[in-house]
Amino acid sequence: MIQLHDKLFKPFLSEKEILDAIERMAKEIAVEYEDQTPIFVGVLNGAFMFVSDFLKAYPHACEVSFVKLSSYQGLTSTGIVETLLDVPDNIEGRSIIILEDIIDTGRTLQKLVHLFGNTKVKEFKIASLFYKAEVYNGEYPIDYVGLEIPNKFIVGYGLDYKELGRNLREVYQLNQKHMINLVLFGKPGAGKGTQAQFLKEKYNLKHISTGDVFRYNIKNGTALGTLAKSYIDKGDLVPDEVTIKMLEEEVDKNPEADGFIFDGFPRTVAQAEALDNFLESKDMKVDATIALEANDEVLIERLLERGKVSGRSDDQDVEKIRNRFDEYNLKTAPLKEYYEEQNKFHSVNGIGTIDEITLRLTKVIENL
Ligand code: AMP
Repeated sequence: MIQLHDKLFKPFLSEKEILDAIERMAKEIAVEYEDQTPIFVGVLNGAFMFVSDFLKAYPHACEVSFVKLSSYQGLTSTGIVETLLDVPDNIEGRSIIILEDIIDTGRTLQKLVHLFGNTKVKEFKIASLFYKAEVYNGEYPIDYVGLEIPNKFIVGYGLDYKELGRNLREVYQLNQKHMINLVLFGKPGAGKGTQAQFLKEKYNLKHISTGDVFRYNIKNGTALGTLAKSYIDKGDLVPDEVTIKMLEEEVDKNPEADGFIFDGFPRTVAQAEALDNFLESKDMKVDATIALEANDEVLIERLLERGKVSGRSDDQDVEKIRNRFDEYNLKTAPLKEYYEEQNKFHSVNGIGTIDEITLRLTKVIENL
């Protein structure tokens, strides 16, 4: 197992398996191009090792050039392919064979076909060392394939995870853990923090309470704490960009976690979207959003009780509490719809004993 940034990867293809596949490809292509001088065009950055070993295995006259395209950010293809180094000059009338490290969705390929479609080449063929048949959109035929692989994120032999791993001689695949990521949803006082304590033990999850992180920072007089304090004291929400950045840092601090309980986050649609994008870039997702439901009068009573013990000023003043409910109704309540559209919203009665409510939450989680 190797670690690159925050992720673990396990061995997938040995150097020999890769080189054997390249040799087969070189032989197959050599038979067809023996009596011409094709131009092999490598697609940077990922294909540089493949191009090098391929050329060493190619026995006849040939030329080499490169284009550079980019579409990946972390673990996911962004869908937007940029051209960073364009088609070579003087290719009119020549046979072009693209050397790609990997074809998955086919978006980069589409861009390549488009780029070379404007040139007067004699012939345009595609050779890919790795090929994910399961996800390829099938738009263009792929002429030469080295190894067909399942739809797993891979690194090594030129391919990277956030720029690391390109120098590995072998190919590794992401070691996928079965994670559960939960969002606990509900008004202040609904019992999110209390229930999170039980759930995190039971399912071995990391509990992130944005309110707790802010309070910790206020207590320690950090810059973030000073910034957040004025909002929290009034019962207003802290601005999204501050909260989102902080949340992402908390997740990144825990690469070993089997999952997360997000408590008090997201509280706005912008935060929910940021969370989805952020998790997707790490090949993670929100599995369920569970709302603890209770009426305002019960909640106010609970918060005032808590305020006596915790000393939290935002729990001691009914006006501030009502402002937090207003913030919730205005900015957080629309998230119900956001998660319902993704079929991830679950509602649980938040009135009863702590044990009764834990049991209700457990039932939802076990049915996921
Ligand atoms: P809590 O402990 O969850 O009740 O949060 C206490 C206070 O921290 C809130 O009233 C907000 O001022 C701030 N806060 C906590 N989480 C967030 C969030 N996701 N977005 C904005 N502000 C937050």
